[in-house]
Amino acid sequence: MDVEKKRQQEQETVAEIIAIYCRAHHGRREGLCPQCESLARYAEARIAACPRMAVKSFCSVCPVHCYAPARRQEIQAVMRYGGPRMLLHHPLMTLRHMMLGWQTRLGRVAFFRHWRQSNRSVKAK
Ligand SMILES: [Zn+2]
Repeated sequence: MDVEKKRQQEQETVAEIIAIYCRAHHGRREGLCPQCESLARYAEARIAACPRMAVKSFCSVCPVHCYAPARRQEIQAVMRYGGPRMLLHHPLMTLRHMMLGWQTRLGRVAFFRHWRQSNRSVKAK
């Protein structure tokens, strides 16, 4: 898999999850509210600058914590909400994201962690 293609797909996936979160929490029908827009820009810039794109799958398990602490909390809340719902809204994109994860050993561990966390947060609702 081409690293730049993977990078672009990762950005699309994150943008989509933020959009799901914003629609549910901030009542936007089109586009993002200013707060989520700023988070989306931030995440996009982090992914654009990610030096580990070729080997990693999910930012949540990446050993390089490149997010500033406040941003990290924001994105974690967004992922907890939007990650599981992503499967309902965009099953193909989610599948593609998960398939990327299977390509590395770290990715396989990440996949199960990701999955367990997703299931837990769905049940907690
Ligand atoms: Zn929002």
